[in-house]
Amino acid sequence: MKIDRAEITGNKATIIFSDVEPHLINALRRSLIVDIPKMAIDQIEIHLGAISDENGRTYESTRPLFDEIIAQRLSMVPVPTDTDALMKGHLKNKSECDCANVGCPNCQIMYSLNRRGPCTVYSGDLEPLGDEKLKPLDQKIPLVKLTDDEGILIYATAHLGTGKTHARWQAVHAAGYRPIPEINIHQNKVKDAERIAGNCPRDVFEVSKKTLKVKDLEACVLCRTCEHEDLGGIGAVTVDANTYRYKFRFETDGSVDPKTAIIYALDKLSERFSDFEKGLAELK
Ligand SMILES: [Zn+2]
Repeated sequence: MKIDRAEITGNKATIIFSDVEPHLINALRRSLIVDIPKMAIDQIEIHLGAISDENGRTYESTRPLFDEIIAQRLSMVPVPTDTDALMKGHLKNKSECDCANVGCPNCQIMYSLNRRGPCTVYSGDLEPLGDEKLKPLDQKIPLVKLTDDEGILIYATAHLGTGKTHARWQAVHAAGYRPIPEINIHQNKVKDAERIAGNCPRDVFEVSKKTLKVKDLEACVLCRTCEHEDLGGIGAVTVDANTYRYKFRFETDGSVDPKTAIIYALDKLSERFSDFEKGLAELK
């Protein structure tokens, strides 16, 4: 497996892999979805009953929305994960942490959410108890609307987990890949270069000095329109998809950066294959 090119822009990554079998690239996709640890809110405490402000005015906290819907929305808000600590193995599941299940900065982040209506409560209203850097990265995720005399007071705790357990811990989304083919143009058989180029729905070809050329190979989606014999000449263009080159794309929800995610997933796969190899050796 070789990486020919990697482009990372914000939370999105595009990586061109070559010399790789389809099952390996799929294993990487699955590992990215289920293996990357991240912090997510999985425990909340909702204040029920009247909430008083500093002027003695009271707000009702039981009316706005069902507790479980608020809990579900909070759990899906991406909260930052300290990737340096994660890669060094300092971030831990609460049950495996040295704090003996009490809760500490290595295994949990605590937030408070305290708003009174009328307003829309957003993810940005979650206040971390401690470092301001732990505020949710996306501040504008709507959680609930409060009308006059409605209020909300919640204490939420985030813990480490992986997408294997629940979607709230899935850091990588929209992971997918497609093969990059090899397109061969047999110039002596091309009768109508303009027609072949014009019929490609992905604008893969260009015609330069009446000669058909490949302009953007990675845009090809293997529709094989260019291979149609009635288009511009019999056997003028052939598309070979078995090249073992893939364009791999994914994005993260912001809690983990794409570079950390891909390094972690590749390490995890390597570890699994080594374990499998050892297991096989023991069988012999
Ligand atoms: Zn701890």
